[in-house]
Amino acid sequence: EALINRIAAGEVVERPASAVKELVENAIDAGAGRIRIDIADGGKTLIRITDDGCGIPPADLPVALARHATSKLDGSDLLNIHSFGFRGEALASLAAVGRLELTSRAAGHEAARIRVNGGRAGEVEPAALREGTVVELRDLFHATPARLKFLRTERAESQAISDVVKRLAMAEPAVGFILRDISGGGEGRLILRADSEGGDLFDALGARLARIMGRDFIDNALGIDATREGIRLHGYAALPTYSRGAAVAQFLFVNGRPVKDRALTGALRAAYQDVLSRDRHPAAALFIDCPTDLVDVNVHPAKAEVRFREPGVVRGLIVTALRHGLAGAGH
Ligand code: ADP
Ligand code: MG
Repeated sequence: EALINRIAAGEVVERPASAVKELVENAIDAGAGRIRIDIADGGKTLIRITDDGCGIPPADLPVALARHATSKLDGSDLLNIHSFGFRGEALASLAAVGRLELTSRAAGHEAARIRVNGGRAGEVEPAALREGTVVELRDLFHATPARLKFLRTERAESQAISDVVKRLAMAEPAVGFILRDISGGGEGRLILRADSEGGDLFDALGARLARIMGRDFIDNALGIDATREGIRLHGYAALPTYSRGAAVAQFLFVNGRPVKDRALTGALRAAYQDVLSRDRHPAAALFIDCPTDLVDVNVHPAKAEVRFREPGVVRGLIVTALRHGLAGAGH
């Protein structure tokens, strides 16, 4: 069992950033208003996620750690990706590749904690916690030195974690995020801070994007909002006059979930082909919202690819909406 768990875990947990992604998604799913992420040594020795979400009752702590245990699947909507996690294996996988400690307090319950070491869960114990959940993952891949060897430098792993948190923060403007590196002890070094953005959602998104991508991006971007055949595209795309040097800043989301998808970036490129030279990448943060039966994001657990039932419609929507916006802005 432990070996099978470790093999399967490798599918989900490739590096510290993938652990952070799963844990932050869980916090978002739990309705957290504030999420704090502390890491040490690029997440290799410590990842700690603290949220103020709904918490887990003591009796459910061992259940949450079991493989394929999820509170989010009702069987009727297998492709529902509005809820981030839907595989019910993240915590089990993480517990198989690191030392995991789960402390939580649900409304109407006492706080409790469970620890998993070497794949074996201990007893549920009383703990002190005011609200929400704290997941602590220490010594990732300590039991699999071969995988540990494949991790990159502390700097590179920290960067990957920061990228993951940025993307999730862009998708959830109403949630406050703090990412700190506590390798040096004490309060640690602040890597990213994005407080909850109030206001109506479009403004909140603009404010959050300004925070993450820079004020100059929003000041030099088109607001996009278009719908075709039940699929909505909204967000911001840079004017062709806006340049941010060599950095590629393209952020794409499908049903609130960050994705990396060649077909979508290809559509973005096509929209700009007459106004931007081929070697430049338009900065953009675009959100596609589409009925869950028209999209499958469950192509591979650790990869952020998507498969649309009607790829042509999505491509057409992106190209048309952006060209229309660019033309309206005189480009
Ligand atoms: P999934 O997210 O796919 O359901 P996970 O293994 O990530 O599977 O989590 C298992 C279960 O543990 C979740 O379904 C949820 O009930 C509970 N859980 C995990 N993290 C949290 C959290 N931060 N707050 C509340 N509940 C959580
Ligand atoms: Mg999950």
